[in-house]
Amino acid sequence: MSNPLLERVLPAEAADRSQVFDYKGKVGDFDRLVGILEADLGTLEETDRPRGWRAAPVEIRLDFAWANAGRDIPSVTGRVEARLAVVCQRCLAAFDLQVETSFSLLFQAPDEDATEFAGLADFDVWELEAETVRPVDLVEELLIMAMPLAPMHKAQESCGILPIAEEDNGSETVRPFADLRSQMEKMNS
Ligand SMILES: [Zn+2]
Repeated sequence: MSNPLLERVLPAEAADRSQVFDYKGKVGDFDRLVGILEADLGTLEETDRPRGWRAAPVEIRLDFAWANAGRDIPSVTGRVEARLAVVCQRCLAAFDLQVETSFSLLFQAPDEDATEFAGLADFDVWELEAETVRPVDLVEELLIMAMPLAPMHKAQESCGILPIAEEDNGSETVRPFADLRSQMEKMNS
C-alpha cells in the first residue's frame, strides 16, 4: 500500500480539480521531525523516554484551489494537528505537546516573481523547489514551524519542580499577588 503523503502533487493540477487531501498519518511518517524530537528525547535517561510516540496520529486536511480569479496562482489552505513527544524546558521531563496549525499558502514556482501576488496578503508563500510538492514535505515543514522553541507544560501542576532554580524564586513571589488579586475580585463581586 502506497503512502499518499509521498505522492507528488502538481499544484496547478490539484487546484484545477479542487483536490482535497484528508488523511491521518503518524509522527513516524516525518523523518526530519522525528530527528528533531529524537535529539531532545535522547537527552533523557532511557527509562524516562516515552514509548510509542512515533505512532501518534497526525491529522491532515489540505484543500487545493486557485488563489485568484485569473486562475494562475495555485494555493493550499488547511489544518494539521499532531501530538508530539517533547521535553519540557522547565522541568526537563517528557510530555505530549498538542500542536495545531492552520495555514493558507500560495505556491511560487522557482522562476516566478512574488510581486504577482500583490493583493493576496492573506496567504503565505510556499516556494517550490520542483514542479511538484509532496504532502509529507509540506506538512512536516508546517509542523516544525508550529512547534514552540522552548516547549513547556501548560499547567503548573503537571510541571515538575526543578531542584535548584534561582529564577523560579522570582516568579514564585509574584504568584501570591496574582492569587490575592483574583481573590479580592471574587470578594468584591
Ligand atoms: Zn514541565
